[in-house]
Amino acid sequence: MSLAWQHFQPASDTFQGNIMMVTGAGRGIGRELSLTLARHGARVILCGRTQKHLESLYDQIMAEQLPEPLILPLDLNKLSQAECDQVSQAIEQQFGHLDALIHNASELGPLTSLSNYPISTYDQLMQVNVRAALMLTQGLMPLLLQAKSGRLLFTSSSVGRQGRAFWGGYSISKFATEGMMQIFADELENISQVRVMAINPGATRTEMRARAYPAENPGQLKTPSELMPCYLYALSAAGSQWHGQTIDAQPR
Ligand code: NAP
Repeated sequence: MSLAWQHFQPASDTFQGNIMMVTGAGRGIGRELSLTLARHGARVILCGRTQKHLESLYDQIMAEQLPEPLILPLDLNKLSQAECDQVSQAIEQQFGHLDALIHNASELGPLTSLSNYPISTYDQLMQVNVRAALMLTQGLMPLLLQAKSGRLLFTSSSVGRQGRAFWGGYSISKFATEGMMQIFADELENISQVRVMAINPGATRTEMRARAYPAENPGQLKTPSELMPCYLYALSAAGSQWHGQTIDAQPR
C-alpha cells in the first residue's frame, strides 16, 4: 500500500522564508535534510559538532544559489545553558521566530550487553541524544511558538520502541526521545500551532549504520535522499495532522 507522503514532492518554494534548524547537519541524514530544505526555500541553521562538515555543506548550498544558511557549531556533549540562551537570543534578534527545530544528531555508543555497559559512556550518550535535545527545545520553544505553524521533529529508531539485545544506551535514549516527543505533543496540543512528531528513518546508508552493521553491504540500503519525501511531508502543511506520533520513513 502506498502512503500519501511516500512520493511527496512539494514545490521548490514550499519553505520560502522559513527558518529551520537541523542538528547533526554535517553528515548523513541531517546533511541531506538540510540541503533538501534549502532546495525548498528554507534558511537552514546548520548545527553540528565538526565545523569543516558544516562549512562544506554551506559551500554546497551557496554553490547551488540557495538561501544562505547559518553555521552553528555546537558540541551537544558539552552544551551549556548559556549556549542555549545565546542561540535563542541570536535567532530571536535575527529572525524573531523559528519555523522548525529538527533534532537529528545522535551518537550510537558501544553495542554491548547492558550488564557491562560503561556508565560514563551512558552518561555521554544520554547527554547528546536526550538532555541536549531537551535543553535546546526549552531554549527555542518561545521562538517556535512565534512561528505560524511551528514544527518540533525528533529522530527515533526501531530500538526506541522495542528493546533489542546489545543496543544498550542508544536504545534507552531513543525510548526517552519517544517519551519526550509525546509529552511535548500533549502539552502543546491545545495551546499552540506547533506540531510535534518523530521520524524513524529505518536502515539508511550512513556512517552510523555502517558502524552498527560493519559486515552489511551498504549498497542494499536506502540512501538519505530516499527518506526526504517523509521529512518534507512532516515539515510542510501537508503533514499538519501528524502530532504526537512516530512515523516510519520506510514502512514495511
Ligand atoms: P551519522 O551519519 O552518524 O551522523 C550523525 C550526526 O550527528 C553527525 O552530523 C554528527 O556530527 C552529529 N553529532 C554526533 N554527536 C554530536 C555531538 N556531540 N554534538 C553535535 N553533533 C553531533 O548518523 P545518521 O545515520 O545520519 O543518523 C541521523 C539520525 O537518524 C540519528 O538520530 C540516528 O539515531 C537516526 N537513525 C539512523 C538510522 C540509520 O540507519 N542511519 C536508523 C535509525 C535512526 P559530526 O559531523 O560532527 O560528526
